[in-house]
Amino acid sequence: MAKLNFYAGSGLDRAAHLRKDPDWLAERLAPTGPQTRLVPYWRGKHLVAGSAETPLPVFLSPDHGWWRDLAAGSPIFLGLEGEVSYFALDFSSLDDGENQPLLTALGRFEEIRTVARLMDRQTAALYAYVRALMLWHERHRFCGACGSATEMIEAGHSRRCTNQACGISHFPRHDPAVIMLVHDGDRCLLGRQSRFAPGMYSTLAGFVEPGESLEETVARECWEEAGVRVDDIIYHSSQPWPFPSSLMLGFHARAVTQDIHVDGEELEDARWFSRDYLLASHDPETFRLPPPDSISRQLINSWLLG
Ligand SMILES: [Zn+2]
Repeated sequence: MAKLNFYAGSGLDRAAHLRKDPDWLAERLAPTGPQTRLVPYWRGKHLVAGSAETPLPVFLSPDHGWWRDLAAGSPIFLGLEGEVSYFALDFSSLDDGENQPLLTALGRFEEIRTVARLMDRQTAALYAYVRALMLWHERHRFCGACGSATEMIEAGHSRRCTNQACGISHFPRHDPAVIMLVHDGDRCLLGRQSRFAPGMYSTLAGFVEPGESLEETVARECWEEAGVRVDDIIYHSSQPWPFPSSLMLGFHARAVTQDIHVDGEELEDARWFSRDYLLASHDPETFRLPPPDSISRQLINSWLLG
């Protein structure tokens, strides 16, 4: 079975053909329409109810007619779960959306990384999907070719330049990034950036540059960040990472050199860690692994169990 990382696996049928069917979309958004769930979003946050330990997603219904006056732009069609259709609603144009009474009557806005790991995987993936699309729209309001305004089309899955002489379409983009568990058989290489929580060490990672294969990026980043040469680069799994727009491509790689030279820019430290050390308990201020929602942690766990 495919390895499913956190923030993947919404289970939605994206039903892309329906993005171009305005009659069907309007019917699904009509107050008397069939079952429809609207996912509220405000400036990177999602609306949840329930306790801090057990947050629950809040969905609006077309029957909550007030969303039409408060939400910016058209709802974005996300997909189908059986007969239920999902749309994302953007309230980000409200300066004080976090305190909007009609919304706060239903729940509170929370950061995805605060709540998602406490929710079921499908909801976490739904939130990541919404976040990725919303951030893309927010950052692509103007055409990269001619500088004119763009407009949302295809129920939120494309934008088109409004300058008729240009008129090109823009599609949601991801930035591919590799992330790799480097090992020498008995030990693995973990590093830390200065922005990390105290004591946290993670797998090395970096963005794919133009003209590079993924394997070349893995080898280059290991060399640049830690001064370690690697071989046997094997794909493991991937993860949507909408912070803001990455697709993480996870690998295991075998080190062919052991000496570490950190670059001092991306990493402030890198070390070899034995399995025994990783499995022992530590004061988290001294050593901790990345959070369980990250592919980094999954790469480490799979090596520990391997
Ligand atoms: Zn243009």
